[in-house]
Amino acid sequence: MQFETLALHAGQEPEAATGAVTTPVFQVSTFAQDGIGQPRGYEYARTGNPTRTALETALAALEGGAHGLAFASGLAATQAVFQTLRPGDHVLAGDDLYGGTYRLLEQVMRPWGLQVDYVPVGETAAFAAAWRPATRLLWVESPTNPLLRLADIEALARLARARGARLAVDNTFASPWLQRPLERGAHLVVHSTTKYIGGHSDLVGGAVVTSEADWASQLRFLQNAIGAIPGPWDCWLALRGHKTVAVRVERQTQTADWQAGRLAAHPAVEQVFYPGLKAHPQYELARRQMRAPGAMLSFALRGGFPAVERFVGALELVLLAESLGGVESLICYPPRMTHAALPPAERHRRGITDNLLRLSVGLEHAEDLWHDLEQALEGGSP
Ligand SMILES: *Cc1c(COP(=O)(O)O)cnc(C)c1O
Repeated sequence: MQFETLALHAGQEPEAATGAVTTPVFQVSTFAQDGIGQPRGYEYARTGNPTRTALETALAALEGGAHGLAFASGLAATQAVFQTLRPGDHVLAGDDLYGGTYRLLEQVMRPWGLQVDYVPVGETAAFAAAWRPATRLLWVESPTNPLLRLADIEALARLARARGARLAVDNTFASPWLQRPLERGAHLVVHSTTKYIGGHSDLVGGAVVTSEADWASQLRFLQNAIGAIPGPWDCWLALRGHKTVAVRVERQTQTADWQAGRLAAHPAVEQVFYPGLKAHPQYELARRQMRAPGAMLSFALRGGFPAVERFVGALELVLLAESLGGVESLICYPPRMTHAALPPAERHRRGITDNLLRLSVGLEHAEDLWHDLEQALEGGSP
């Protein structure tokens, strides 16, 4: 079955007792057992809940993986993956990362004993060069947050396999509709379901999908042992959202592509970062590994931070907020918002300049959106 069909049907058969067409919210903490040692499939809701099972099955199908696991947030999912390593193990991470992932690595996992190095995400050779005997995991985002750089997923997967390590891809920025890393050899995919999978800015959640049975059972153990699980309502909202991810992301991508072209042509804009622009250094790679270039873009304004402040203040439709992937367009200022956890020197080293803005394109009409961006670029309405 194709993606759109799986999104509606995988794991979402009518409920057995009543025939309810949508998976109910099983708002329950424990399940009666028929006798000692005879549960009917569920025992305690940290370990498993039918609403969560439906979500986990659906997400695994969308990513083309055998096992899906839902977590309380994208970072909880990420932490569980790191926790499957041992103190002393080494992670090679892409150098353009969600700020919270960087904070997790530096302030939680490094004190725990993980060793971490950061490598330019688009340079596969740099990963090979930074390799250590203790390297167990490659961790990349693609496209990256906030600079929309790409990792060559197939090449990194080949490298990892050749050297006995594993590749994990944070696929949050792309969504499974645009990119399916497992099909390109990655061992594991992580999502913040808060973003495109939920899609409506109304929940926080995370997920892991993998076809590696041993890794999945280790993660299933940690999911229960640590307990960072999503509640049934949040699972239900994520399930409701994910059904329409294909149609949402397709339209959002069309609109984003259109805005990117117009922004790039505007004299107030210094540079646009969008993998759908021919000027993007990895335009060809984007065409190869993504169905379409996506609905996230960043741009740098001429005039530095004062221009950024004026522009953001003049927007009337686009909301200034963290997060992305929702139906409404959101703009964010990474240096002070999503990437505030990075020390300034580290931020600058990664190319996150003081005039950078990140735009998550929503489902507004493309012309209304451009009208708002354009009037703000021109100093706002009088
Ligand atoms: C938001 C985000 C996360 C963290 O997810 P939460 O659900 O906020 O914990 C991780 N990676 C990327 C790329 C993100 O955008």
